[in-house]
Amino acid sequence: MRFVADLHIHSKYSRACSRDCDLEHLTWWARRKGISLVGTGDFTHPAWYDHLGENLVEAAPGVFRLRDDLDRDIDRRLPPSLAGAPVRFMLSVEISTIYKRGDRTRKVHHLIYMPDLSSAARFNARLAKIGNLGSDGRPILGLDSRDLLEITLECGGYLVPAHVWTPWFAVLGSKSGFDAIEDCYVDLASHVFAVETGLSSDPEMNWRVSGLDKYRLVSNSDAHSPPVLGREATVFDTELDYYSVRKALETGEGFAGSLEFFPEEGKYHVDGHRKCGVRMEPRETSAHNGTCPECGKPLTVGVLSRVEELADRPHGARPPGAAGFTSLVPLPEVVSEIVGTGPKSKKVLAEIDKLTAALGPELVILRDVPVDDIAAHSPLLAEAVTRLRRGEVVRDSGYDGEYGVIRVFEPGELERRRSAFALFDYDAPRPSTVERPRPAPAPVAAAAVPAPVVAGSSLLDGLDPEQRAAAEVDGGPLLIIAGPGTGKTRTLTHRIADLVTSRGVPAAQCLAITFTRRAAEEMAERLAALAPDAVGELTIATFHSLGVLILREHGAAFGLSASFGVADPERQLAVASSVVADEKEARALVAAGDARYKKALRAQDLVDFDDLITLPLALLEESAALVDAYRARWRWVSVDEYQDVDEQQYRLLRLLVPPDGNLTAIGDPDQAIYRFRGADVGFFLRFREDFPGARTVQLTRNYRSSAAVVAGALEVIAPSSLVPGRELRPMADHGDAPIGVHHASSEAAEAAFVARTVEQVLGGASFHAFDSGRVVGDGTQGLGFADFAVLYRTDRQSRALVEALTRSGLPFQKRSHDRLADRPGVARIAHDLRFAAGETVSERVRAVAGDDHTAYELLKPLAASCGTDFERFHSALALGVEVDTWDPRADRISLLTLHASKGLEFPVVFIVGCEDGLLPLRWPGADDAEAVDEERRLLFVGMTRARRHLFLSHTSGRPRSPFLAALESYERLGDAQPRRRRKGTQLSLL
Ligand code: ATP
Ligand code: MG
Repeated sequence: MRFVADLHIHSKYSRACSRDCDLEHLTWWARRKGISLVGTGDFTHPAWYDHLGENLVEAAPGVFRLRDDLDRDIDRRLPPSLAGAPVRFMLSVEISTIYKRGDRTRKVHHLIYMPDLSSAARFNARLAKIGNLGSDGRPILGLDSRDLLEITLECGGYLVPAHVWTPWFAVLGSKSGFDAIEDCYVDLASHVFAVETGLSSDPEMNWRVSGLDKYRLVSNSDAHSPPVLGREATVFDTELDYYSVRKALETGEGFAGSLEFFPEEGKYHVDGHRKCGVRMEPRETSAHNGTCPECGKPLTVGVLSRVEELADRPHGARPPGAAGFTSLVPLPEVVSEIVGTGPKSKKVLAEIDKLTAALGPELVILRDVPVDDIAAHSPLLAEAVTRLRRGEVVRDSGYDGEYGVIRVFEPGELERRRSAFALFDYDAPRPSTVERPRPAPAPVAAAAVPAPVVAGSSLLDGLDPEQRAAAEVDGGPLLIIAGPGTGKTRTLTHRIADLVTSRGVPAAQCLAITFTRRAAEEMAERLAALAPDAVGELTIATFHSLGVLILREHGAAFGLSASFGVADPERQLAVASSVVADEKEARALVAAGDARYKKALRAQDLVDFDDLITLPLALLEESAALVDAYRARWRWVSVDEYQDVDEQQYRLLRLLVPPDGNLTAIGDPDQAIYRFRGADVGFFLRFREDFPGARTVQLTRNYRSSAAVVAGALEVIAPSSLVPGRELRPMADHGDAPIGVHHASSEAAEAAFVARTVEQVLGGASFHAFDSGRVVGDGTQGLGFADFAVLYRTDRQSRALVEALTRSGLPFQKRSHDRLADRPGVARIAHDLRFAAGETVSERVRAVAGDDHTAYELLKPLAASCGTDFERFHSALALGVEVDTWDPRADRISLLTLHASKGLEFPVVFIVGCEDGLLPLRWPGADDAEAVDEERRLLFVGMTRARRHLFLSHTSGRPRSPFLAALESYERLGDAQPRRRRKGTQLSLL
């Protein structure tokens, strides 16, 4: 059977889509248009998915029809010429992936089809681990296109790249796409068999690119409201079921071509600059070197140019076996031209009501009804259809987001003819206008890619002279005072790698201590790259995991077995509750480290987090022999972030290293932020007394941040810097965007500012008044979601951010409380494994399992509950990197506390709540000058996380932070206005 299909539409749950996008309206309009198969759109949206399940029944394998009762209602509202025609639905969704590949931001839209609701449900469950499906029917995922295809295939569906030529959102798009389908889907590309040509291109244009010969060229409406259904469509000549459609697309058998817009009507057909009213054909564009003659900025390059760029065949070429196509103008537009009112006007609708009642569905009128039959109703329309069928139309090409206009009649012609023919009664002719969605933002400027670093012959060649001087110091105590972004971690890892690979130090003698497991993981990763053969022998630990190690060896002194467990807070409370019944009292016991509670812990072969330092310390303080043994074992010790050691850790370290030992301590006193947890920057400041003869080296070149960020951070820290004559020189070329300061009316408005700015940056907009536009490709600066971080002082502040980002459909991840046990589905297994607070899967499993095979067995259920591919999970484990129970491939914005941001870096950083009372945070008994200084350091830490862009915001809720007073030069960003998203406005990101 021959039928028309429109397999790319949206439901009312997609942004900027009509409220009428529901099954009933879609069915009504499909009959009116003459379409037999319609995509459901949006099946990943939970509410729409439920709606589909409740209102559709399976009609044939993989296709559905509306429930009988609803269907009968619809037929009652249609003339007999249209009623009763079969309308089937196929599960479809459009997904937008935004991610980084090869230093460029990629934005690609894909259509996904599933054969049944349970496959769709599986697919939805997988995607729910990656992004937010509930805020938009067209979800945005920070996922590589290839991985989306993999998930699609694993769930039994197929994928069709959407409107492949659109500059910003498509697989072959000039702005953020690829030069070939294969480059996007890489090893899985052979599973793609059809591509959607989109409104701005037709098959004839696509035929010029021989790389596309193997794909079926499909067309759909991408309808945001039911009346535009079928404005482009695909024709099949096969059975009306999912599997036949899929097979027709795979093999070409039963695929009967497409119904097309004239490509000139698409809004990105030729090149131009809408703002300047400049429109150009590809040849003119190259004559102008791609820049706008009005404003000098790059022109938006349209589909025609892009096709020209990739074409390897001349105009008019047609590959053998290619299916045909028919170019059409939607009937409402034709009628609109004749009657002189808009295509959505009542008048046009009424005329089409009459026409379709008499002649059948719109597409049938346009394509099949004999012109004489049309002439009986309207000679003008008959003339229009005649011309249309011959392709004799006047084309006014679309460009830079502006739809083109296709006219059937020459200017003035209608007026002349109207005197001769008058079927439609018409008003004085007005140009027909279509309500147009807002165009995507204009691009900013040309590409700039940093030069690659050339690898040298010595490991230390990658270091600058200061770093190198520090790394080359032989033995003995060494203090490296180093500002943020000066390459502390880099210097430390190169020093260790060089010691073990070139200076004959046995790797087993090296102990590297970091503060967080994240830092330990990063260090392990970097060392694995620098000294792959030695990394297995090195001991890379946090103070706590070092404690575990010592207790595994000598815990018997406290009655612990070699496989003791570390109690998490829940467990600690449970143990304390076995001593005293009252919960409040039990909490008090835990907090005080009460002897009865500790005894009960030991009885269960458990320790708590504090024990991991105090017990090893007690052991070493008691036994000189043990001290000697450990000193002999680790002759080379390094400690990162030395400014944050607390007294217990300090004492442990003094025991592990003799006063003249090979201790390298590195840190920045101005980044000491753990006083509240007992850290004491004083230990850093008196290093040279503790280790007489220690050498001191300073690192002053900052490689992380733009000049503006470095200058701003220095201004902020200056009033209480602990480093006399603090120097920090920006080395990186990260553009000249100033620090942005934004005042919002409320926390919600502040969060909306964050979401909006992320959208703008990723949408490629120039968002800094002073931005010189040193950007890559489409203005997005090659960023992905993972390049953004939002930092705040207290976890409570994250709530507004979570809400705003959720509402915007932006994928994010709260990383401050990264305890695995907090994640859904993992709690039980985590409990069985007895995770300590803050412990990673890898640490815990290594500790418990001892070997990889046992680890594998232990982790199987965990991996299953994560829904992640176990091989990936396991290899991540083997590398020692943190295992995330979300889909590890997902790219997300990080939300973290300022404390948790320590040591990390991001191209774009927001610090919200820069207010007196939050930053500095004030709480009873802690508003002394020392506490305020530490808060200032915390802001310094936060600011220096930023590479390229830094935004500081505050709300009217409190006075502005006194720390901002120091900022000399910054850009005030427009005061917050409640986000107004008019109906019909699609996010610039999409
Ligand atoms: P923090 O105090 O914030 O922890 P850090 O001193 O540990 O900072 P790193 O994370 O080691 O800094 O380095 C900061 C950035 O600078 C990294 O992106 C790193 O790759 C880069 N970097 C460090 N040294 C150099 C160098 N010599 N040449 C080029 N880039 C460098
Ligand atoms: Mg660091």
